[in-house]
Amino acid sequence: MSAFVDEYMAKLKAKNPNEPEFHQAAMEVAESLEVVIAKNPKYSDHKILERISEPERVIMFRVPWVDDKGEVQINRGFRIEMNSAIGPYKGGLRFHPTVYLGLLKFLAFEQVFKNSLTTLPMGGGKGGSDFDPKGKSDLEVMKFCQSFMTELCRHIGQFTDVPAGDIGVGGREIGFMFGQYKRVRNEFVGVLTGKGLNWGGSLIRPEATGYGAVYFAAEMLTTRGETLEGKTCLVSGSGNVAQYAIEKILDLGGKPVTCSDSGGYIFDEAGIDRDKLAFLLELKNVKRGRISEYADKFKSAVYTPVDKAKDFNPLWDHKAECAFPSATQNEINAKDAANLLKNGVYLVSEGSNMPTVPEGVNLFVDKGILYGPGKAANAGGVATSGLEMSQNSLRLSWTREEVDARLHGIMKAIHRQCVEASEAYDMKGNYVAGANIAGFVKVADSMLDQGLV
Ligand code: NAP
Repeated sequence: MSAFVDEYMAKLKAKNPNEPEFHQAAMEVAESLEVVIAKNPKYSDHKILERISEPERVIMFRVPWVDDKGEVQINRGFRIEMNSAIGPYKGGLRFHPTVYLGLLKFLAFEQVFKNSLTTLPMGGGKGGSDFDPKGKSDLEVMKFCQSFMTELCRHIGQFTDVPAGDIGVGGREIGFMFGQYKRVRNEFVGVLTGKGLNWGGSLIRPEATGYGAVYFAAEMLTTRGETLEGKTCLVSGSGNVAQYAIEKILDLGGKPVTCSDSGGYIFDEAGIDRDKLAFLLELKNVKRGRISEYADKFKSAVYTPVDKAKDFNPLWDHKAECAFPSATQNEINAKDAANLLKNGVYLVSEGSNMPTVPEGVNLFVDKGILYGPGKAANAGGVATSGLEMSQNSLRLSWTREEVDARLHGIMKAIHRQCVEASEAYDMKGNYVAGANIAGFVKVADSMLDQGLV
């Protein structure tokens, strides 16, 4: 580690103890930016990196609710308003038992750079709760969402902070929260994205993150004169991002062969085709079942439950050309990264946020594979949320084709920015550096313009 990164990290860790995911995300960015800051003293003179690492505001609150047995339950709610230099705070809400302050700070920090890359005017934020929707009845989820929004609604607004979904927060949860916001604030505005189509949602928003990660992969392949046609693809997760990554891989002629949930994964050597995908969507979005049921239904698939004693994830240990991690952070450890390379994978496009540990990232970058980090590759979701906000402001709805074309154009623009920024600093082919630098410069220059706020 250089003295510059060392000093920055020592201060950040002292100020934010016991937040390893936030430290990990900040370190990766600092390492990429060292050369930019050395060349542009205005950023260090105005302590831009230190300021960008400090949330503008953190909101933490109690979320009381009553379960179906009549028992009182208490969860903790959060909203991290990280940076508003280029637009209102924007970023998802995560409902998962692992949620705590540090996890959301990492996600909010990443979001600042990601939103900047989208070319749209959106600041960065993130929020959520340690509430676990899994195994809860619809009524319990509604009661939780209403209680959560009763507090959150004082802090957000269409021009202030516009949350969306993330792990554990899909159309059902957004609906319950939107309803409560409207009831308490007595206004029908685009305060959340990922809304239902009948009440202000955008076509393609559910598909956008997965589609975007595959569009980004296709752009990376173009630099080598290749396409996804005929390529075997490993996908993790089976939620929103994974489902639509699989769909777009199929559209572009690839062959997805895996997907997973927190219980285990399936390997379907024959490929997950459109009929099997339809079964998966019904299983996960309607029945809210487990991925093991896929292997019960389709005999071409093998189910492997999670084995905590293993020091690697066997999902990443199959022959393939491409990988689309789409479950959660740090799901590819150093051994998994080595296994991917050993098995012939030379493209990784991250649907999930920070799925690869730093040793894995270094391995991918050193080997010069096509490695699209989450803040670039999965930015299609928030970009389409931005398009949903535009449609709400216009009081118009664009067609599926129009939104998809805009999403595709944005993913190409993100790819172009990464390439140009990495080349400008002599790091050609390094999308990690490219994404961090291009995302940073726009926000940093805006912060300089706006003075010390
Ligand atoms: P989701 O619909 O809730 O699906 C998450 C999937 O990942 C589920 O299959 C889940 O399995 C699995 N998973 C979650 N936590 C896990 C863990 N600790 N270990 C193993 N598997 C786990 O969420 P999503 O919206 O697809 O989000 C997936 C990733 O994409 C996250 O990193 C998220 O931050 C990122 N992302 C999402 C969006 C978006 O628009 N939704 C945009 C950008 C980035 P279980 O059901 O068993 O928990």
